[in-house]
Amino acid sequence: MEIFYEIEPLKKRLAQLRAQGKSIGFVATMGALHLGHVSLVEKSNQDNDITAVSIFVNPTQFNNKEDLEKYPRNLEADIHLLEENEADIVFAPAVSEMYPQPDNRQFEIGAVAEVMEGKYRPGHFNGVCQVVSKLLNIMEPDNAYFGQKDYQQIAVIRTMVKKYMPDFKGKIISCPIKRESDGLALSSRNQHLSADQRVSALLISKTLFKAKEMSDKGATQKELVDYIKKSIATDANLCLEYVEIADKDTLQPIKGDLPKNAVICITVYDGKTRLIDNILL
Ligand code: AMP
Repeated sequence: MEIFYEIEPLKKRLAQLRAQGKSIGFVATMGALHLGHVSLVEKSNQDNDITAVSIFVNPTQFNNKEDLEKYPRNLEADIHLLEENEADIVFAPAVSEMYPQPDNRQFEIGAVAEVMEGKYRPGHFNGVCQVVSKLLNIMEPDNAYFGQKDYQQIAVIRTMVKKYMPDFKGKIISCPIKRESDGLALSSRNQHLSADQRVSALLISKTLFKAKEMSDKGATQKELVDYIKKSIATDANLCLEYVEIADKDTLQPIKGDLPKNAVICITVYDGKTRLIDNILL
């Protein structure tokens, strides 16, 4: 596995590999890697000759300074896990390498970025667009893999690529959520949970699974939302930030009867840790 900290040598190496006819898969991460990230690496390894992984805690997508400072970092363990899982290239730049000058670009993504995470984390998706556009330009992958754990993010990235990177030839590929055996969606932020909060966190996926079951049996949108709110409120550690049932492509709220192509997105504070999850109906 080759490790790069700087853009130019990485681009040179990728150009060499491309000239040898190798296809390149790319997985963008913020490190503190877990089996959710590994599932993207595995998919990329299946589809491509070379898998490149970036590890970069992107400051511009944090709208909360404390959250950025507290974000877990462990480059050595990450490199070890990637080596074990047969990634070929790791790119772990410093902030000054990615942002030699402040990035003042404002991405106009539209409605898909304005609801849910866009509403509750102002500026978050603009920062995501800044870093992902830079990374895609550096890597020029044939395929780039993103997890449905961040469901709305994929829709935002697809829109950003279409609107701002018309020459980008690669595919954006969305991959299923990887969960613990008990259902909790894997997340770097799970490291922040105490044993007690870890037990509480389980209620989030449990509630989503039950809601899907209710929806399969014909429950209305109101019945689902009422059930979810009530269920999360039963645990004293949990505080619901939002639950939305949205169109799976546009992410806009659904009016009237629930169609088949809906997604339930939920954000819950477990103590001070903000957890997100979702389920397709
Ligand atoms: P992050 O390091 O949290 O920015 O995530 C990097 C990539 O891994 C994003 O595309 C995430 O959606 C994806 N990811 C994070 N957690 C999971 C998970 N539990 N299952 C699948 N993909 C995930």
